[in-house]
Amino acid sequence: MQKVGDWPVLNLGDRFQFACHKGLSCFTQCCQKLEVMLTPYDILRLKNALNISSDRFLEKYTETVFSERLEIPLVKLKKIDNRCPFLSSEGCKIYKDRPSVCRLYPLGRGFSNQGKEVYFLIKEKECLGFEGSRKWTVASWVKAQGIEDYDKYNKGFSEIILLKAQSRPHGFSLKEARMFFMACYNLDAFKEFVFKSSFLKKFDLSPKRMEKIKKKEPLLLQLAFDWLKFALFGKPTLRIKSA
Ligand code: SF4
Ligand code: SF4
Repeated sequence: MQKVGDWPVLNLGDRFQFACHKGLSCFTQCCQKLEVMLTPYDILRLKNALNISSDRFLEKYTETVFSERLEIPLVKLKKIDNRCPFLSSEGCKIYKDRPSVCRLYPLGRGFSNQGKEVYFLIKEKECLGFEGSRKWTVASWVKAQGIEDYDKYNKGFSEIILLKAQSRPHGFSLKEARMFFMACYNLDAFKEFVFKSSFLKKFDLSPKRMEKIKKKEPLLLQLAFDWLKFALFGKPTLRIKSA
């Protein structure tokens, strides 16, 4: 059986029983233990929910870890006093914008060694949710957690991880790792790079697309992924202006 860490990998049709609610004695215990890895779209949602810049968010609430397996920098929520900084006695203070890891729990989602996305069930003894009678499949749980936008806007990130595993197994140079970090995690810095460097003189981007990007940040994130695919993997996701 294929596993991620200790947990068996599940298919979308696999079933489990689960019901989590406020009256349980384990309520919020998971939030004290969970390692919350953040995706680029998680960071976008959280910095906007907190009304701070991505720079400030990264500095105050996160730490960067280097994944030896994927050979890329990843970002996770920094615990304060050994617990999630957004946890209160009433539950999650940023529930509407909670990260995808928290939405999916008790499912986990990771990448296989081939860079393919896989689901697994985190069945902790202390989690009383598994005593609940509500039945789910992996697919119905994912749908119920409002993860659609997260998947839509993180798609380019998953594709980059897959490209990295397939075509660049030996890691990025320091310069490339910095480009990856800025484009994926520090969106305000990427925005400055796009609008205040020679980026728009170099790349052929339609005024219509740029207008939309100015109004909708997730579209800026998609441009960031297109740039990484072009610059790091030679994909035709952007076009250089002809002289
Ligand atoms: S049931 Fe599980 S997921 Fe829900 S609060 Fe308890 S430990 Fe957390
Ligand atoms: S962000 Fe919210 S749901 Fe996620 S671990 Fe923190 S308190 Fe819990």
